[in-house]
Amino acid sequence: MSADHLPEHPDFLWRNPDPKKSYDAVIVGGGGHGLATAYFLAKNHGMTNIAILEKGWLAGGNMARNTTIIRSNYLWDESAAIYEHALKLWEILPEELEYDFLFSQRGVMNLAHTLGDVRESVRRVGANRLNGVDAEWLDPQQVKELCPILNINDNIRYPVMGATYQPRAGIAKHDHVAWAFARKCDELGVDIIQNCEVTGFIKDGNRVTGVKTTRGDINTEKVGLCAAGHSSVLAEMAGFRLPIQSHPLQALVSELHEPVHPTVVMSNHVHVYVSQAHKGELVMGAGVDSYNGYGQRGSFHVIEEQMAAAVELFPIFARAHVLRTWGGIVDTTLDASPIVGLSPVENMFVNCGWGTGGFKGTPAAGLTFAHTIATGAPHKLNKPFALERFETGALIDEHGAAAVAH
Ligand SMILES: Cc1cc2nc3c(=O)[nH]c(=O)nc-3n(C[C@H](O)[C@H](O)[C@H](O)COP(=O)(O)OP(=O)(O)OC[C@H]3O[C@@H](n4cnc5c(N)ncnc54)[C@H](O)[C@@H]3O)c2cc1C
Repeated sequence: MSADHLPEHPDFLWRNPDPKKSYDAVIVGGGGHGLATAYFLAKNHGMTNIAILEKGWLAGGNMARNTTIIRSNYLWDESAAIYEHALKLWEILPEELEYDFLFSQRGVMNLAHTLGDVRESVRRVGANRLNGVDAEWLDPQQVKELCPILNINDNIRYPVMGATYQPRAGIAKHDHVAWAFARKCDELGVDIIQNCEVTGFIKDGNRVTGVKTTRGDINTEKVGLCAAGHSSVLAEMAGFRLPIQSHPLQALVSELHEPVHPTVVMSNHVHVYVSQAHKGELVMGAGVDSYNGYGQRGSFHVIEEQMAAAVELFPIFARAHVLRTWGGIVDTTLDASPIVGLSPVENMFVNCGWGTGGFKGTPAAGLTFAHTIATGAPHKLNKPFALERFETGALIDEHGAAAVAH
């Protein structure tokens, strides 16, 4: 698709108001999750006197930096339910938001390179089907038919022994998704306030009553945290700790190419995932850097190692040139599942821990988090993802489905 067909420039899509003295609810973080939460608060719960506070520019965090893979083939019932609900929302949102964000259901493959991978993958296909998620197991020849440029020789370092395949999965254009939500939020009366960093919270006992920002104090009855990689920094300001580690995660794009890569291919084993964007760039992601940090850049050796594996899997990539690389800060939990629910502070709610895979969850995160903020109780889909699970031990371990989680 050429740039001529892309929707209009974002300058025209929302106002840039100054913050008011008081709102019914304040959402901290203007990424995809903050925008989706505000949209569903306004649309489903009639809460329109709300503000999204963003320390930088709209959707300039992980929302702008992710590789846009959308799928729902997670192992456990709780995860399949929330991610599949998200996928169903992705399928209807372009019409609902009246914005074509180029959601392309071109299928996602997860390669298996070892006998352990094969066993885990076949088990996951079975579990997915029981949960009504479209899932197939492909042998190497079927993998090759779907993605002819993939090397399936059995003498390579990472032999392809098969793959899971979800036909309804795919990619969307992330900046357009943000603009689509932002425009609807604005239409519904939500104030989107950029360059407004939250620096602290105002509390009455254990109840939050306002936020301190670089543009002055704002009173509010409810606060929803949607700060991804900075979630634990904000929790610390509010007086509680989150079981979150923040890591750099990198990706890169090549220059533009003719269509060569018709689907999305992920290898959890080597932490490489590849798709071809609408304009023609090859989009590739890596695994997380192992150290904790907040600089939005990763180490060269991590991306170099992953690209070496990518070139072995896709020999033709040796002829492509890297156009640019970047990094984001992802918020990981010890069970590779998100935290969406209440916090230890009254009237403060947390949505975080989506780690390396939260783009796909954006619509369901927004819908369930809005329900939680509006009603003070979790939606049935986010109830299992409460913070308390780290005390009760009811963890939802998705490391198998989410090794790199995209
Ligand atoms: C390289 C990379 C590849 C990825 N690939 C995929 C993928 O293919 N598929 C997938 O599903 N997921 C992917 N992810 C993960 C996904 O991007 C995130 O899980 C998701 O974007 C997090 O939600 P968000 O969009 O709201 O986060 P963000 O866009 O990061 O939003 C959080 C916002 O909070 C703001 N903020 C922080 N602190 C403050 C403060 N004190 N005051 C005000 N604002 C504040 C930040 O500036 C930021 O804009 C990837 C991530 C990276 C980095």
